Amino acid sequence: MEYFVNVILPIPLENYFTYRVSEEQARLLQPGMRVAVSFGKSKIYTALVYELHHTPPTAYKAKDIHQILDEHALVNPIQLEHWKWIASYYMCSMGEVFRSALPGALLLESETLILGNKEADLEEVALRDDEFLVMEALEHQSSLRVKDVVSIVEKKRILPLLNRLVKKNAIVLREDLKEQYKPKMLRYIKLNSSYTSEEALQQLLENISRAPKQSRAVLALFQLQATTNKPVKMSDLEIEANVSKAVIRSLIKKEILEEYFVRIDRISHDQGGDYSALKSLNKFQTIALDKITEEFENKNVTLLHGVTSSGKTEVYMRLLESCLNSGRQALYLLPEIALTTQLITRLQKYFGKKLSVYHSKYSMQERVEVWNNLVSKKEKAQLIIGARSALFLPYSDLGLIIVDEEHESSFKQFDPAPRYHARDAAIVLASMHNCKVLLGSATPSIESFNNARNGKYGYAKIDRRFGDVLMPEIELVDIKQQHRKRRMKGHFSQRLLEEITLTLEEKEQVILFQNRRGYAPIVECTTCGHSPQCPNCDVSLTYHQYRDQLRCHYCGHQTPMEKDCQACGNFTLDTKGFGTEQVAEEIKGLFPEAKVGRMDLDTTRGKHSYEKIITAFEQQEFDILVGTQMITKGLDFRHVNLVGIMNADTLLNFPDFRAHERSFQLLTQVAGRAGRTKKRGKVLIQTYNPYHQILKQVSTDDYLGMFQEQLYEREQYHYPPANRLIRITLKDKDYNKLNEASSWFAKALRNVFSQGVLGPEFPVIPRIRNQYLKHILVKSPREVSFAQTKNSIKRIGNSFNAISQYKSVRIIYNVDHL
Ligand code: ADP
Ligand code: ZN
Repeated sequence: MEYFVNVILPIPLENYFTYRVSEEQARLLQPGMRVAVSFGKSKIYTALVYELHHTPPTAYKAKDIHQILDEHALVNPIQLEHWKWIASYYMCSMGEVFRSALPGALLLESETLILGNKEADLEEVALRDDEFLVMEALEHQSSLRVKDVVSIVEKKRILPLLNRLVKKNAIVLREDLKEQYKPKMLRYIKLNSSYTSEEALQQLLENISRAPKQSRAVLALFQLQATTNKPVKMSDLEIEANVSKAVIRSLIKKEILEEYFVRIDRISHDQGGDYSALKSLNKFQTIALDKITEEFENKNVTLLHGVTSSGKTEVYMRLLESCLNSGRQALYLLPEIALTTQLITRLQKYFGKKLSVYHSKYSMQERVEVWNNLVSKKEKAQLIIGARSALFLPYSDLGLIIVDEEHESSFKQFDPAPRYHARDAAIVLASMHNCKVLLGSATPSIESFNNARNGKYGYAKIDRRFGDVLMPEIELVDIKQQHRKRRMKGHFSQRLLEEITLTLEEKEQVILFQNRRGYAPIVECTTCGHSPQCPNCDVSLTYHQYRDQLRCHYCGHQTPMEKDCQACGNFTLDTKGFGTEQVAEEIKGLFPEAKVGRMDLDTTRGKHSYEKIITAFEQQEFDILVGTQMITKGLDFRHVNLVGIMNADTLLNFPDFRAHERSFQLLTQVAGRAGRTKKRGKVLIQTYNPYHQILKQVSTDDYLGMFQEQLYEREQYHYPPANRLIRITLKDKDYNKLNEASSWFAKALRNVFSQGVLGPEFPVIPRIRNQYLKHILVKSPREVSFAQTKNSIKRIGNSFNAISQYKSVRIIYNVDHL
């Protein structure tokens, strides 16, 4: 009898691929184990066994596998079932899901780039002969491909060898070059505790009176402490006292001053708080927790609708705890992990050893470790906190999934496939584990709230902030009118300036939000109207003043700022619109004494720069933070009393059917950063359109009003949740070919669907990185089987792919979320 395996290859193939195995191999193999196989002319891949059988393929002669890579299954049957759902629902291949599910280190293939680990001490590791050969080659060459290794060791089957080197920490794979997270320590200075009494202090000052530099340093320390009432950094003291580090060091040596370090990711707001015990819930949290528990009795999904700063996290922690106590696993999904160090610290303090963090930006080793801990059901991996990729881990028995900030659009993966939505995929995964899901948000998505209202989901609510802190007061500022009355200074209305002045006087902090980075998004010639465009994309270049450059935010193209207009030659280039860089610059001019920080993609590129900015702001090293939507997420700043939204209109005018919903969510979340302690916070929203419904709803905290109006519009125009959506994007370098191809596709769709096909249409930015794009939208009514609709579309896609002149045209499917 012959033996065969169907495997999943990590490439976009429609089908499983069949290889031959020996009887002995067949005895060892199980679905979910990895095997090395060759595919195509010379490529070697890591493939995953899907099933074993005895039927040879009809279309080709099955090759032998190279070898088996695992002793036990790395992927369990529930995962395979879940991946299958993802592939079918989001219209991609199992191979694409497989590739994105596994940490790269478990997917070695012939194209993987191998580099020596510079930090490894090779003297310390025992290397086998073949391993030594690889390491030797890496001393002469900065990197190798898997196929190079094949020729170096003169063996075909080298994946185990590479796996061993990875384990020994001797090599790294290209994608692993990202920095590992290392906590940063900040150095602070204080007076030695033996000088706290008045007399001791007098004595000290007398003693050092003949050392002017030392006296200066001690006095400056007092001054800084008295005026700012904040911990004093070594560097600040140097400047204030105008002394060198050596002077401060000698004072430390004499035990007059003391230095202390604070791990910046561990600074907690409630210093001295006891994290080893759970906080006791207040009345509102308790009611919500009871309601959730009750809903879970007959519903699998419950929505927790709690205003910003209502203490949802404490409620999550109770649920997580009882899930872990029952011996089951739990998953805490977050939109973006980089933005949540504060939260992770909080959970780590409580759940300690049971918690693992999983994120695609973590090093390969860490990710593989979490994966393996789950396979072997270690205690350490009982609670996983992670961004959307954590959904793919090998859970064996999930009891609870929490989806925090469930409304966030970053739960959707756009590129590459699978283009899935992690909240929705989590709900499906939960049903496979017979597990509960809690969705949490201050501003639920229209879809989830609708499901709660229909009774499909359970619902619990907290409408008070914790500690009876009032919701911030929101004021709309009409900048059209302010312009008319000449009350604008740059992009600041008089009202906003007044409030900033007041806030700074009270030594509180200000956040200014502008959803664009750079200095100005458009440069325009006032003589001829020409504006510089990206050569690769159909979009205007953004001016960045700091480097005096024009940049494309879609492809990264950059060029020096032009002096004269390239069209008419006049020196009349002007800028239009404004970004965070300009806001920061203007505010520095208006408040020269204030310290201003900026947080956007440009200032957070470096390693840990995000954490640095957050920490500095937390430590009140700046008074004003200017930022893009990065500042909206989950940040808990204690001293922010004013939030200024520079211009709400760009958000509202975004051409997308979810733009209004998103604006409401974004503005409410930004506003929620204000006044998180006793004082009532203030939010000023500048707009040309103060009568806009959404802005009114934001300012009166009218979620329900927003929901009803949006739902009505969605029903009118056949958008979700009333209908389902699939967007087909076609992409090609050749403009004419793309036009022709997309017309063909749309026509084929219209032959099958009598209505609900829109387009083809160019998107707002019709060309990105030299590729033209065209969208076709299919709206599928709820009554019709969505699976059937997708099957029909896939069939059309397959016929399309068979047309030779359209071979270069790429098709991208997006389901539900565009
Ligand atoms: P949300 O996630 O709803 O915006 P958080 O969970 O961040 O709110 O809570 C807001 C603040 O209130 C946090 O600083 C948190 O430490 C505090 N807090 C919430 N619940 C409690 C509680 N039961 N006891 C003490 N402090 C609490
Ligand atoms: Zn570009």
